[in-house]
Amino acid sequence: MNPPVHTLHQGTLPLLISIPHGGEILPEAYARRMTHAAQAVADTDWHLPRLYAFARAMGVSVLQANYSRYVIDLNRPSTGESLYPGQTTTGLCPLETFRGEPLYTDGRGPDAQETADRVATYWQPYHQALRQELDRLRARHGKVLLWEAHSIASQLPRLFDGELPGLNLGTFDGAASDPALAAAAVAAAQAGPHSWVLNGRFKGGYITRHYGQPGQGVHAVQLEMAQCLYMDESAPYAYREDRAAQVLPTLEAMVRATLGAL
Ligand SMILES: [Zn+2]
Repeated sequence: MNPPVHTLHQGTLPLLISIPHGGEILPEAYARRMTHAAQAVADTDWHLPRLYAFARAMGVSVLQANYSRYVIDLNRPSTGESLYPGQTTTGLCPLETFRGEPLYTDGRGPDAQETADRVATYWQPYHQALRQELDRLRARHGKVLLWEAHSIASQLPRLFDGELPGLNLGTFDGAASDPALAAAAVAAAQAGPHSWVLNGRFKGGYITRHYGQPGQGVHAVQLEMAQCLYMDESAPYAYREDRAAQVLPTLEAMVRATLGAL
């Protein structure tokens, strides 16, 4: 039996936290064609379910992927077009790590048929669950906040210059949520000790852009956190209680303030 594609915890508040890059599983059939670098799944958004445990306790819904983004990137369009035209970015079924190491021993990724199979097996079910849960919460409350939870290494020269701010909020330049929600998130970030930016290098991926439809009562906010705020950025990518304790009050304040502004 393969583990389920995703795990959904259903809450009662009008907030769904989506964690599309937290999965670490590589199915055996793919893993045997993949490099050691791939099998380390270094580009995982590590430990986010643990970091957001406070939200589950609040009564928030949490949807998390169980398979690695190297199998398929749930935060890309299933058609594969680039989110950031002209910039280096990773695709629907990536061929390289963030640092440019090949993922497949033969240098070739899945062909068109296998890509379509991965879309059907992993991508579609996650998005179906996401849509259904948003619809359930919106039907109950009239509107809903989708919080896209991500994290990434703070320095990745192939993807961005220098060191990333600690808290990178994205609303697709304001199109994915009411400005009052972004303002509330920013105010909570500002009150904390960490650097932050709104719609900087990370403006929100496919999920934020696609589901964030303020006119239809769905407001999406992406938070891309620099991983140094709560973990070691090199293997074995340990969770750091001491660092997490520094950022958790700000993270919880941001989530609560944004929900309060809904
Ligand atoms: Zn991510």
